[in-house]
Amino acid sequence: MNEIKIFSPGTVANVACGFDVMGFALDSPGDEMIVRRINERVIKIVKAEGFNLPLDANKNVAGVALLSMLNEVKDEVGFEIEIFKKIKPGSGIGSSAASSAGAVVAANKLLGDPFSKTDLARFAMEGERLASGTAHADNVAPAIFGGFTLVRSYQPLDIISIDTPDELFATVIHPQIEVKTSDAREILKRNVLLKDAIRQWGNVGGLVAGLMKSDYDLISRSLEDAIVEPIRSILIPAFQEVKLKSKEAGALGGGISGSGPSVFMLSRGQETGERVKMVMAEIYDKVGIEYDIHLSKVNKEGVKIIS
Ligand code: ADP
Repeated sequence: MNEIKIFSPGTVANVACGFDVMGFALDSPGDEMIVRRINERVIKIVKAEGFNLPLDANKNVAGVALLSMLNEVKDEVGFEIEIFKKIKPGSGIGSSAASSAGAVVAANKLLGDPFSKTDLARFAMEGERLASGTAHADNVAPAIFGGFTLVRSYQPLDIISIDTPDELFATVIHPQIEVKTSDAREILKRNVLLKDAIRQWGNVGGLVAGLMKSDYDLISRSLEDAIVEPIRSILIPAFQEVKLKSKEAGALGGGISGSGPSVFMLSRGQETGERVKMVMAEIYDKVGIEYDIHLSKVNKEGVKIIS
């Protein structure tokens, strides 16, 4: 096998109380990629369709992730990559992570699976370093493992795959405004109050337990962020209204996706997800901000081989 075609999913990071540690994968949108094994120690991005992305392997996250992997491969081997991008870069649903994760999963297959999923996340994180300045795993972990993931620690890298209930759907709206990741970081307080920290770790434990037990009420009670959202949400128009009305429409809860401006809501079942989608769209229609909106089942598989 010298060529492989894969699907790589969009992902939601910073899942409410799980700021910087929890994320989940989506069924759609997602990118497609073709990765080809070649007998030369180079990475070539031969095509990047959909959005205007760099073809220089050192400037494209897929190239950077694979170069990091090649450092640990002894064979005289390299890869050609074609990217068919559907996830808008900068939208807050892991556009860069989809390319980094897709590239390393595909290359690993072509090499005969020498690396673990945690190794693959480590390589893909180098792509994230290029995109955002920090080698974070919040998006690449769910893209590679599928479902919900917890990045328990970075030193050493310890990624936990969390069981995902069957009926979880995510509605994600991307208002067409720019929120710079640097601004979204800048406004955060450097210290937290002990009482807020206690609420937060109570909710993280509750969310993990709720997911593992398929206890939708517990998931709903736990989808709260006492620390980051109260500050960061001021950057997102109509955020409180979106949250309130979505919950009235039956959503379990949600929050800011990544560093924004996308907002996600989780629901039990597709029908509720559809209602939430309508409510969110109505609010942004009224406010007069253009948006993209997606309703997707939470994806349990992560990067998937198409052929
Ligand atoms: P997202 O949160 O949607 O991943 P980021 O802002 O983190 O968005 O990353 C997008 C940045 O990464 C853009 O500057 C984009 O040009 C750059 N980039 C480089 N290669 C890729 C790629 N293959 N896919 C997406 N973005 C890429």
